[in-house]
Amino acid sequence: MDDAERKMQFLFKLRSHGVTDKRVLEAMERIDRRAFVRGLFADRAYDDTPLPITCGQTISQPSVVGLMTQALNVQPRDKVLEVGTGSGYQAAVLSLLARRVYTVDRHRRLVSEAQEVFAALGLTNITALTADGSRGLPDQAPFDRILVTAAAEDPPGPLLAELRTGGIMVVPVGQSDAVQRLIKVTRTETGYDYDELRPVRFVPLVEGLGQD
Ligand code: SAH
Repeated sequence: MDDAERKMQFLFKLRSHGVTDKRVLEAMERIDRRAFVRGLFADRAYDDTPLPITCGQTISQPSVVGLMTQALNVQPRDKVLEVGTGSGYQAAVLSLLARRVYTVDRHRRLVSEAQEVFAALGLTNITALTADGSRGLPDQAPFDRILVTAAAEDPPGPLLAELRTGGIMVVPVGQSDAVQRLIKVTRTETGYDYDELRPVRFVPLVEGLGQD
């Protein structure tokens, strides 16, 4: 199979997993996942599977990236926070849909590698920072949308507080090595609405900064 065929398959897989939003599909067609997968696994970049990246972390499964992005319902003027930069792939997809994306990771090395890829792809509306995202990003709050790409035991309080009224947060919730539930939280005038979307499996949200 050549690259063009692999990319066709990639989009087909997304659709067959329920990613139907046209803007999300277009963004995922434009952002080449291969740019975010280094070394040994690069030739599996278009498979619908999570893959290992630096620092013992993983780049998420493309269909899960698609479904989470779709659930987030990002609007063109939105300011978005992603917790868990990892490879930077999810942030890059979000950057085509939003006005500005802030993405944070507890591993400095992942942040700097992701920054290199953003620059190479000419994605200028992403700010990547090394930070413990479970505490939110007070300097930039509030956010229209928040996407957490690591599993928390509960939706972190500081992130709920940084969500604008009418804003949406998507977060995997559950015990770290079990299957988690993907939850969509909508902030209303009076509180928060919770919708359960689907089972997922993510690496855990860990407090504090990483060693590298
Ligand atoms: N969205 C990524 C995949 C995320 S993997 C992608 O598109 O490739 C989950 C990431 O969450 C890991 O890189 C891990 O380092 C990060 N992480 C875990 N706990 C965190 C925390 N408290 N603050 C910021 N990042 C965290």
